[in-house]
Amino acid sequence: MKLNEEKVTRAILSRYTEKFLDNLDQDVIIAGAGPAGLTLAYYLAKAGINVSIFEKKLSIGGGMWGGGMLFNEIVVQDMGKEVLDELGVRTRPFEEGYYTADSVEAVTTICSNAINAGAQVFNAILVEDVMIEGEGVCGVVVNWTSVEKAGLHVDPLSVRAKIVVEATGHPLEVLKIIEKKVDADLYTSTGKIIGERSMNAEMGEKTVVENSKEIFKNVYVVGMAANAAFGAHRMGPIFGGMILSGKELAEKIIRKLQSQT
Ligand SMILES: Cc1cc2nc3c(=O)[nH]c(=O)nc-3n(C[C@H](O)[C@H](O)[C@H](O)COP(=O)(O)OP(=O)(O)OC[C@H]3O[C@@H](n4cnc5c(N)ncnc54)[C@H](O)[C@@H]3O)c2cc1C
Repeated sequence: MKLNEEKVTRAILSRYTEKFLDNLDQDVIIAGAGPAGLTLAYYLAKAGINVSIFEKKLSIGGGMWGGGMLFNEIVVQDMGKEVLDELGVRTRPFEEGYYTADSVEAVTTICSNAINAGAQVFNAILVEDVMIEGEGVCGVVVNWTSVEKAGLHVDPLSVRAKIVVEATGHPLEVLKIIEKKVDADLYTSTGKIIGERSMNAEMGEKTVVENSKEIFKNVYVVGMAANAAFGAHRMGPIFGGMILSGKELAEKIIRKLQSQT
């Protein structure tokens, strides 16, 4: 068979268009494919929920690739290890209650589990705004990251969802937009983003799971973004909390969506 360049182009365009069209009206859209967003996507997709992730960078994985200070090993505790076991990420015991895993294996395996379960990842696309209907959010506004980087004057597209999840980590890119542009309080004690507090691993790991919850009508927050939004501690290069917050939020969202049907 002689290769036909035009067919290659046709294949890429038609398959990508098909994928995008299939994801225009979702149950859940997640902004950010870090460890928390990817774990959340896995558990939602596994429960049969239509879920897609928009990731600003070309690569998925957020801050997990680099472990701590570019040493590409991650540390998890007992409960985090249980989730990694379920996902097929190999761990090694270090000292009692501490396990390590290769961060590259962790990112790629969590992501492939999420995709195999039915989640769709769109990379190199950023969430630049939300769509509003009544008093709540009903979707996201997206554009190519390259358009933003080039400073081009190009209108974005919009994608509808019952639930939008802020999983952009420290920058809180989605919540900052809501805080700035929507004339209503967030569900925090001040009604605003409170901001992350200094490092306390014990507290941070606990609260990141508790804080993974609804923060505005139809908007949920997960992972590092959850602690930053609700004013809790950062926890340093330990990733159990990120994974567990994804799992915990999946359970909350599944209950919410089931209660609406
Ligand atoms: C300065 C800094 C400090 C850190 N401090 C801590 C710490 O204290 N404790 C800790 O555990 N870890 C820390 N980390 C490591 C790491 O960020 C987190 O632990 C972990 O990766 C957070 O997971 P996450 O899934 O919540 O978010 P992240 O891993 O940060 O993933 C967020 C993803 O969202 C994407 N994104 C951002 N904006 C958009 C957008 N608008 N649209 C679409 N996608 C978007 C990003 O590209 C990224 O891939 C730190 C990292 C940095 C860079």
